[in-house]
Amino acid sequence: MAFEAYATGRYSDREVADLLNREGYRTTGNWGERKFTKDTVNRMLKNVFYLGKTKYKGEIYPGKHEPLIDQDLFDKCQEVRSRRRSKSRALGGHKRVYIFSGLARCHICSLTLRCTATQSKGKWRYYRHIPDVRGHECSAPSQFMRADLLEKQWAEIISQIQLPEDWQQQIERLASDADERAALLKERSYAIEQMRRLTRLYRDLLIDESEFRQERERLSRK
Ligand SMILES: [Zn+2]
Repeated sequence: MAFEAYATGRYSDREVADLLNREGYRTTGNWGERKFTKDTVNRMLKNVFYLGKTKYKGEIYPGKHEPLIDQDLFDKCQEVRSRRRSKSRALGGHKRVYIFSGLARCHICSLTLRCTATQSKGKWRYYRHIPDVRGHECSAPSQFMRADLLEKQWAEIISQIQLPEDWQQQIERLASDADERAALLKERSYAIEQMRRLTRLYRDLLIDESEFRQERERLSRK
């Protein structure tokens, strides 16, 4: 019954356990009768014992008992498991990166922009200005812009920025006060580091997947 239920692909281990418990099934083992848990169901559905086989030191041997289920059903369960696993990985592992998260603001009301992605294809990321939703007053209307375009523009801008060769001397000339100079230098180096970080981050984002795979293969051949 557990195998049949799981093979439909509609139940998780936990749901199969609930189903068995509701029907009054209990595990039999060294600790007596227990309710099923997601772990006992997980182990059971992978156990070749139900195929009439036994496992000894990692090897599978034909057992002396009759199979309780057939191979097809067993295989179907393993297939469902691997499909569920890759599905949950695809959902959970997809983290989107927003360069301007918490930084981009509306130039009128200075409210930070919200980062969202379309649910349907999950393809487009957006920065959104939504003062009304957030209970904020702003003369600029609610609007959203595509994150990839905005970030590309930004990358073009920062690639143009060049610090003058003699920026240190310039600062020294401009700021005679020692503390002020130190603060300025600190701010400047922080800005440089920020720019460097953004450029690097952006370059990483620009590399598309096929490029990434090629690169990885190239490296792994070395
Ligand atoms: Zn605004």
